[in-house]
This record gives sequence, C-alpha cells and structure tokens, in this order.
Amino acid sequence: MPHEKLNLIRGLLRHPLLAETARVLKEELDASCYVNCPECQQRFLPSHRQIYCSKKCTKRMDMRNWRKTPLGKESERKLSEKRREQRAQINSR
Ligand SMILES: [Zn+2]
Repeated sequence: MPHEKLNLIRGLLRHPLLAETARVLKEELDASCYVNCPECQQRFLPSHRQIYCSKKCTKRMDMRNWRKTPLGKESERKLSEKRREQRAQINSR
C-alpha cells in the first residue's frame, strides 16, 4: 500500500466517529466470543478450547467427575465414614 493511502487510513481512524465505531464493533465481537463458565457462571473470554474460566473451576469439575468414578465413590464413602466417626466421638464426650 502506498504511503499516502496508509496515512489517509490512519487519519480516518483518528476521526472520533470512526474510532467510536471501531470500539463498538470490537466490543460486539468480544461479547459474542465470551462464554459463561459452567461451574461459576462467570463470563470470560475462552482461549483455545477452554471451557472453564479458571484452573479452579476446571479442578472443581474434575473433582466432581472423579467422585462419580468407582474409585471416587469409594473414597467419598470412606471420608463420610470418617466424618461419622468423628461426630460420634464428639457426641460421646
Ligand atoms: Zn468458573
């Protein structure tokens, strides 16, 4: 592109109306890219194939999925048993 044309475009973009249009367009584009995190419902801009807003939410979901597996269920059972024992100990005091 010739230098003059480039300068012309740069000048046009400095025009408040065009700058405003560009800003609105960018906002609209951003808004359409945003998704809600399935875990905490927070809106965020996902990077490549990202589903959750943060590592925290990814971990929370991982944990939830893990609890559904036989190993996770077993671990949950043991944990609740432990809690029941602890409660029983407190009550017996
Ligand atoms: Zn989240």
